[in-house]
Amino acid sequence: MDADGLVALVSSYNPHSDTAKIAEAYAFGDEMHAGQVRQSGEPYFTHPVAVAELLARQKLDDATIITALLHDTVEDTKARFTDVSERFGEEVAYLVDGVTKLTNLQLSSTETKQAENFRKLFMAVSKDPRVLLVKLADRLHNMRTIKYQRPEKQAQKARETMDIYAPLAGRMGMQWMREELEDLSFKVLNPEARNSIIRRFIMLQRDSGDVIDSITGDIQKVLKKAQIKGEVFGRAKKPFSVWRKMQEKQKSFSRLADIYGFRVIVGSEADCYQVLGAIHARWAAVPGRFKDYISNPKANGYRSIHTTVAGRDGKQVEVQIRTRQMHEVAEAGVAAHWSYRDGVRAENPFAVDPAHWIRALSERLDETDHDEFLEHVKLEMYQDQVFCFTPKGDVIKLPRGATPIDYAYGIHTRIGDSCVGAKIDGLRVPLWTRLKNGQQVEIITAEGQRPQPTWLDIVVTGRAKSAIRRSLREEDRERFIKLGRELARVAFEHIGKKATDKALATAARTLGLAEAEDLLARLGSAELTARDVVGTLYPELAAAPQGEVVEESRAVVGLPEGQISTRAQCCQPVPGERIVGITYRGQGVIVHAIDCPVLVDFEEQPERWVDLRWHSGPHGAVHTVSMQVAISNDAGVLGRICTLIGEQKANISDLHFIDRKQDFYRLLIDVDLRDVEHLHMVQTALEADSDVAEITRVKNVDRKP
Ligand code: MN
Repeated sequence: MDADGLVALVSSYNPHSDTAKIAEAYAFGDEMHAGQVRQSGEPYFTHPVAVAELLARQKLDDATIITALLHDTVEDTKARFTDVSERFGEEVAYLVDGVTKLTNLQLSSTETKQAENFRKLFMAVSKDPRVLLVKLADRLHNMRTIKYQRPEKQAQKARETMDIYAPLAGRMGMQWMREELEDLSFKVLNPEARNSIIRRFIMLQRDSGDVIDSITGDIQKVLKKAQIKGEVFGRAKKPFSVWRKMQEKQKSFSRLADIYGFRVIVGSEADCYQVLGAIHARWAAVPGRFKDYISNPKANGYRSIHTTVAGRDGKQVEVQIRTRQMHEVAEAGVAAHWSYRDGVRAENPFAVDPAHWIRALSERLDETDHDEFLEHVKLEMYQDQVFCFTPKGDVIKLPRGATPIDYAYGIHTRIGDSCVGAKIDGLRVPLWTRLKNGQQVEIITAEGQRPQPTWLDIVVTGRAKSAIRRSLREEDRERFIKLGRELARVAFEHIGKKATDKALATAARTLGLAEAEDLLARLGSAELTARDVVGTLYPELAAAPQGEVVEESRAVVGLPEGQISTRAQCCQPVPGERIVGITYRGQGVIVHAIDCPVLVDFEEQPERWVDLRWHSGPHGAVHTVSMQVAISNDAGVLGRICTLIGEQKANISDLHFIDRKQDFYRLLIDVDLRDVEHLHMVQTALEADSDVAEITRVKNVDRKP
């Protein structure tokens, strides 16, 4: 852009602009930087001009534009501070000096150095935040052209931008700037991840067509029906925003509500709430996602209503509702204080002024020591994070929404695994409590404790999630080994052999497994069948004819003469599980699993207990087992669950819904099964499906024998 172009751009929003001064600054900068080139090979002065243009697009005042044109002259050319102040006045000289001071600050260096540099940053910008506006525009242009730098320099600048400048832009209320800075850094720091997100967008577009258009159209229809005037905008979120949400929520791309964002812009605050009502009447609101930043503005002055609704085909989308003025504030942030609207300097439209924050912080510059100041800045700057303290005073950084369990895993996996309770500022709190900035957190641990599966719903950090999953998997392995041992015992007994450690080790080796426990774990998880194992050692016996099928009435062995047996409904035992009988006058013998809690009631009456075991022959009979299954509420999942059960040659004899939530269905499924191995095959097949959240075998439902 040449001098005339820049002058024309500034004049278009600021009729009082001193166009001669801007042209003079342009000429002065051009002359000073003459002969210098950028890494890209372009003349150096194209950079200050690009920065000035960025700021002019934000409709900023003359002093800011002139500062942008001159921001590198004192640092990089023979121009001196006094030259600038004589030609362009105190105000511009002060701003140029502020930006120059920031140029050499290494903000992502060692902690002590960083504290000192943060003080310098805040001192430089505190008297006039326009210094920061120029610095942010400078960084944005440098990040846009970073590909010409050496790789180490790219990584260092990207890291610093991600850690410091992007959050600062957000804290200054400049949301678009924050998102672009983050995404440009992401492109340098993790190009593979970014490309994978972009590929997913392309695939989604191919599969579902233009989702943005269709949803925008749907929202417009709702506005029309409610007779509210407003504009609707849809956009795909920046790859980095999507990536961050995926990390935070541990959700896959397709289940994320935050891939697309929709905005409704209306005329008045009252209209905002009317639109909210109309949208909620049309689509189901997702619980926990409604936020009213109109009555409770964010610390950076941001105002809007946010809600997430489940739209077509159950997909979730976020909608932001705001007035035109709120929208302009959200886009311009702190820049609005020095910008022009319709030819006049903008009134302060802020509910909260983010510039206050800088001033308040700077007041603390002298009173606190460096480290404390740094800690304070970070607390304030990273609004989407919480910082908590250990009893010793160490800081633990967590994402917003984190619980004491996340905190415990943040310290050490061992502490997370053995966590049984937590104290916040000395008081006992439930483990699902959301932590707040500055709280002191103490974790109560107990030896031999294990993470609970329900914790997976409570925690927000990936670190806690993966540690809990790992622990649960280990527990599963132990369970599978135990079950496998039992299955092996039954199978070997059936052919008149013993499942000795030696026999199992030999079978394991023959099957290419490291040790007997691997074999048992696979047997328990139904990756191997008992016949595979037996067949390895005794091929001729395993292949032997199965003999006649045992009838249901003869399924158990050990009944007293003339008695018949009935399976207890409280524990629903199946062949392969240890059983015991309890006699009832007139009802025969009820067969319970050996660990059924009901048996406690009969401890005083040993005469009613009957030793029973399952008939060891192959059973023709089937036994119903009730399972509670939680599945995600997505199209096709229920059908797939039924198919999976059918593929295991098991019959579903009953199925009903217990609970229908927004994202989950809870079902009770009765399945007819041969034995415990069969049960396990079904459970494993279901567990392997990513849409199955939980399976529990229902015991002790309120059913009498
Ligand atoms: Mn620069």
